[in-house]
Amino acid sequence: MKTTHTIHTACLNNNCPTCYATDGLELTFTQQKNENKFFEKAEKEISSNLYCHTCSNTIFPVNWTEDIERVHEYHRKLATPLPTATKLKPLLYGIIILDALLVGALIYYFT
Ligand SMILES: [Zn+2]
Repeated sequence: MKTTHTIHTACLNNNCPTCYATDGLELTFTQQKNENKFFEKAEKEISSNLYCHTCSNTIFPVNWTEDIERVHEYHRKLATPLPTATKLKPLLYGIIILDALLVGALIYYFT
């Protein structure tokens, strides 16, 4: 199962390339996480989305101005990514311990 996590948001006072408003742009950085019953792992890739609340448009990178790109770079560095190491969930530990106990019991039984 994939989930999307917002790791950083910022309100920009740049001009919107569509409606030219200076108070509507919001930049959001997201990261996806693969998750199942046993473990979770965040993906390396960080996606960003620029949305204008004034004209209700998503501003795609092709329409970004140099200023927006600069601010985007700046905030990209501020965004702290989720750790990409695999994180085991308690259920998996439970199964490992149960296995160990089972093996222990078998060894005990056969010797
Ligand atoms: Zn706009």
